[in-house]
Amino acid sequence: MIDHTHDPAATSWVASANGHTDFPLQNLPHGVFSRPGGAPSGGVAIGDKILDLAAALAAGLLDGQEAEAAAAPRLNGFLALGAVGRTVLRHRVFALLSVDAAVVVQSRAAACLVDAADCALHVPAAIGDYTDFFSGIHHAMNGGKLLRPDNPLMPNYKYVPVAYHGRASSIRPSGTDVRRPNGQRKRPDEAAPSFGPCRNLDYEMEFGIWIGGANALGEPVPIEQAGDHIAGFCLLNDWSARDIQAWESAPLGPFLAKSFQTSISPWIVTPEALAPFRIPQPPRPNGDPAPLPHLHAAHDQAAGALDIAVTVHILTPRMREAGLPPHRLSRANTSDLYWTVAQMVAHHTSNGCNLSPGDLFGSGTISAVEDTGWGSLQELSLAGRRELTLPNGETRMFLADGDEITFRAQAARPGYASIGFGPCRGTVWPARAI
Ligand code: CA
Repeated sequence: MIDHTHDPAATSWVASANGHTDFPLQNLPHGVFSRPGGAPSGGVAIGDKILDLAAALAAGLLDGQEAEAAAAPRLNGFLALGAVGRTVLRHRVFALLSVDAAVVVQSRAAACLVDAADCALHVPAAIGDYTDFFSGIHHAMNGGKLLRPDNPLMPNYKYVPVAYHGRASSIRPSGTDVRRPNGQRKRPDEAAPSFGPCRNLDYEMEFGIWIGGANALGEPVPIEQAGDHIAGFCLLNDWSARDIQAWESAPLGPFLAKSFQTSISPWIVTPEALAPFRIPQPPRPNGDPAPLPHLHAAHDQAAGALDIAVTVHILTPRMREAGLPPHRLSRANTSDLYWTVAQMVAHHTSNGCNLSPGDLFGSGTISAVEDTGWGSLQELSLAGRRELTLPNGETRMFLADGDEITFRAQAARPGYASIGFGPCRGTVWPARAI
């Protein structure tokens, strides 16, 4: 999968792309944008610009069903293309934006660029279904230790990529504020529950997985082919109301504690862009069971994981007023996931459940072993038993109104251009008056 589009020496005539943290020429993620007052349209991020694919089609710079699917205001058709179609398009867009493009082509393509800062970015596809996994084993251990110190993992954890069905309707793009939910909550010292604003609002740092190719109802996707059904990746914040969750979850699991909003980074980073950052799935510790055969494929174990650093930053209202920079709360890596994304697809479809282009998975909270990499405040505050002190002296156990949370991701490897995802950001607004 490595080809000339991964050459670290390749540069673009779009000057801001060269050395860009997130969107150099080697990335070329797809998204849906709109100009002020304009209609949504498909585009490709390049430096601090967006290539308007509809304009490029109209100018005759691109053609074909792949480019038409990627120019649409909903990218479900693009997600359905498969690796061959995505690669055809990647090569075309790469050629268009490369310094090697003819000068006349460059000037015509330059007319199809818009400043990203002037545009709104949208959820890039109609999301039919959203499933949230629980594959961050250190997060699962941290949560389990609070309840069962001697036996933190449930007996199924190392056999089943545990998940629940989430809510697609409340997924929003980065930059959308999140309103603190109201709900039923009951502290252990309270005799009865009450309805009111969430007291323990949290984030969960997750990796988002865009599903591409469909499988028919009743037809499982074999693990050997499961990777072919993944069309891209994003960052995902599974905002979580811990007090509502603790009260409502018995015995069926999360419901209103999660469904009030989920935030995603709006650019779809393709498997092709991430090809240099594939790594073997880290070996399971001694004593762990091997995956059952329907979840095990040699090539998936050899190259099914990803090496991507993920960070969480907080900016409080007081920090913002003082002009202070956001403070990093954690740094982890997608290699901290116990299951590969292909195993998630194989498991999800193993009973015959059908997936569709535009379905979205969350990986589960990504936490490192050490507490500098714990991906939620529930973990960092030991479920409200430990205060975090920020550099300006403020303290937090959970999120306060006005707090802004930003996720970022960076894929880096010697010999390749580093690429990122763009931010996944949201600011907490006060609860709606009851
Ligand atoms: Ca989650």
